[in-house]
Order: sequence, then structure tokens, then C-alpha cells
Amino acid sequence: MNREIYLREKGIKVTKSRMLILEIISKSSEAVDANEILKICKEQNFNVNLSTIYRCLELFEQKEIIEKFDIGEGKYDFRLKENGHKHLLECSLCNKTIEVDCPMHQVEQLIKSKTGFVILEHDLKMKAVCEECIKSKHS
Ligand SMILES: [Zn+2]
Ligand SMILES: [Zn+2]
Repeated sequence: MNREIYLREKGIKVTKSRMLILEIISKSSEAVDANEILKICKEQNFNVNLSTIYRCLELFEQKEIIEKFDIGEGKYDFRLKENGHKHLLECSLCNKTIEVDCPMHQVEQLIKSKTGFVILEHDLKMKAVCEECIKSKHS
């Protein structure tokens, strides 16, 4: 992906710090937080402060480039949206299906911080009823 064109397509003014932050997030296989981004910027001798990083992350989130995860204790980390995967939900009554963004990331972080175990794979089985079927059931 050409990051400069990508940012322009998203309607974001291209700056050096935005390009670098996007690069850091897109190269990382795991979600990263603002402090990790700051650390990597410093390693590359790029002078940026935390508030710039936070503003940039906020902008990327608004433009739906990245996803933000609440990992507890007032901390958040971020991942490129296209690095996430989706799960299929099927209504048990009418068999309508929808795709949902994987909801497991926060659970994975929680398990990691509580047990040290890193989840490599997961298989979610979810039973669901869609909005219309719930409504028609109650009317
Ligand atoms: Zn249904
Ligand atoms: Zn998943």
C-alpha cells in the first residue's frame, strides 16, 4: 500500500508524523499502544510527542483506518482495521447472516495480562437471533 496516497484518499493531510505512525501500526502484527509508538519513533530518531501521537490515533480512528481497543486500566491499544478478521453471525430463526468484527481482542489482552498465555487461534461459536425476529416474537 502506498501510505501517502492512502492517507489522501481518506481525506487526511499528509504529514511526516502521520506517515510514520501509520507505518508503525501497519507493520506491527499485534496491536500497539501510544507509548510503543513513541518508543519506535524515538528509535528512528523522529522527534514527536505523546499528544501528537494521540491526536493522530484519534484521527485515524475517526477515519476508520485503525481500531481502538480498551485493554483495561484506562489503557488502549490500536490495530489496523484491515488486519482484523470477521465472524459470521446467523439468525437461528430466519437464517439471515451478518459479518461482525472479531470481538476477541479485548478478551485476548485480558487473558494475556492475567495468565501470560497468548492466544494464537480461536474458534467462536455464537448463537444469535436477529432484530426483526426478536421484534416479531414480541408483537
Ligand atoms: Zn431472524
Ligand atoms: Zn475472531
